[in-house]
Amino acid sequence: MTATRRALLGAALLAPLAAPRRVAAQTQARLLVIGGGFGGASAASFARRRFPWLEVTLVEPKARFVTCPYGNLVLAGKRRIEQISHGYDGLRARGVRVVHDWATGIDAAARSVRLQGGQTLSYDRLILSPGIALRWGALEGYDEAAAERMPHAWVPGDGAQTTLLRRQLEEMPDGGVVGLAIPANPFRCPPGPYERISMIASYLKRHKPRSKILALDAKDAFSKQGLFQDAWAELYPGMIEWVPANRDGRVTRVDARERVLESEFGERHRVAVANVIPPQSAARIAIDAGLANDTGWVPVNPVTFESRAAPGIHVVGDANIPGPMPKSGYIANSTAKQAVASAAASLRGERPPEALYYNTCYSHVGEDYGISIVGIFRPNAEGSAIVEVPNSGGVSPRGNLPEQRRLEAVYADAWYESITRDMFA
Ligand SMILES: Cc1cc2nc3c(=O)[nH]c(=O)nc-3n(C[C@H](O)[C@H](O)[C@H](O)COP(=O)(O)OP(=O)(O)OC[C@H]3O[C@@H](n4cnc5c(N)ncnc54)[C@H](O)[C@@H]3O)c2cc1C
Repeated sequence: MTATRRALLGAALLAPLAAPRRVAAQTQARLLVIGGGFGGASAASFARRRFPWLEVTLVEPKARFVTCPYGNLVLAGKRRIEQISHGYDGLRARGVRVVHDWATGIDAAARSVRLQGGQTLSYDRLILSPGIALRWGALEGYDEAAAERMPHAWVPGDGAQTTLLRRQLEEMPDGGVVGLAIPANPFRCPPGPYERISMIASYLKRHKPRSKILALDAKDAFSKQGLFQDAWAELYPGMIEWVPANRDGRVTRVDARERVLESEFGERHRVAVANVIPPQSAARIAIDAGLANDTGWVPVNPVTFESRAAPGIHVVGDANIPGPMPKSGYIANSTAKQAVASAAASLRGERPPEALYYNTCYSHVGEDYGISIVGIFRPNAEGSAIVEVPNSGGVSPRGNLPEQRRLEAVYADAWYESITRDMFA
């Protein structure tokens, strides 16, 4: 990845999409956004900046949004929850009406959404970005009660899950084993579990150097694998054991009381701290609205991100089926802008703008040590699927490159600052 391409990608994050054609009369229309996370906050902010004639309402239950990105740095003691929490005053200042409530039902025919508090909101276009649901019970023994002893820290909510996992790491005696159960694809943030392993290792190396990490994986390969494993050998020799599915790494059952992770072929691993990342699906509101197919995720139009089942409802972020794109915050941000621009175009009787989607996923692996994966995507010529633009991306080079690693850690911090500003400022 050249510096020029990286600079272009950084610029792309904040750049508005191509301007829609001028229309004679300005339209007044209601854009309703459900979910104030990476997809939803990005959509609401972009809509007000780019299409000020849209009346934008955002429905989000929480007063502050705790990001998953940089949650792994909280586990390492390098960030505090407050540093990765964001409020909605910036969006209000942009003219977004923010309603703190749960959406409980969508009536696509009537173009309205019911809220838990009893209100019904009507819309002309709906952007839905509710994120994921954890599939409780998909791993035998792993339910909401079990998550209080074996945290997932994969849907941070108010930060309680991440705080709990951090506390368990702090309370663990030196010499303990931290076990992780990692799901099969698709799931939120493909490199996330491996950044987490790295950040936990960095904490243990400094404070509990006799401890070990046992990572039990339902896959045989993972994102940026060579780069992660090089770094583990260099920074944390002998500390991390990664067990792929073909060596019985797939966890199928847990015993929360005994803190046991049990593999497919019956091996029982008792650990001191267990981080269980269970299988996932689109969030409940998307499933209840009948938008998901039998995979548990929502099929969408690759140009407009409208649900295949309910045109007029644009589903962005992790809840959709993104083709070759990862379920990442950056993709949620990038596709949210395309969805808003398509909704605005449709409201004015225009064609949707040409689409290009950007992703860079940075991972912190150690002190001043970052790595990344980059991809640029677009709809194919028929508009029927999303494809990666040939030769557009790649991963950081391997080898002994300390300056590259140091710079990528700096770029990662800059990415976090710029995307959260783009969403919330
Ligand atoms: C540990 C970890 C590290 C990560 N690191 C990165 C990274 O470095 N870079 C990156 O690009 N991505 C990263 N990700 C992935 C990123 O967090 C997700 O891809 C992103 O959050 C998806 O955005 P979203 O809008 O779909 O969901 P979210 O950001 O989770 O937002 C969904 C919002 O919808 C709200 N909601 C849900 N249901 C309803 C309802 N019924 N009514 C109203 N509101 C509702 C929720 O309260 C939530 O605020 C990471 C993920 C994890 C777990």
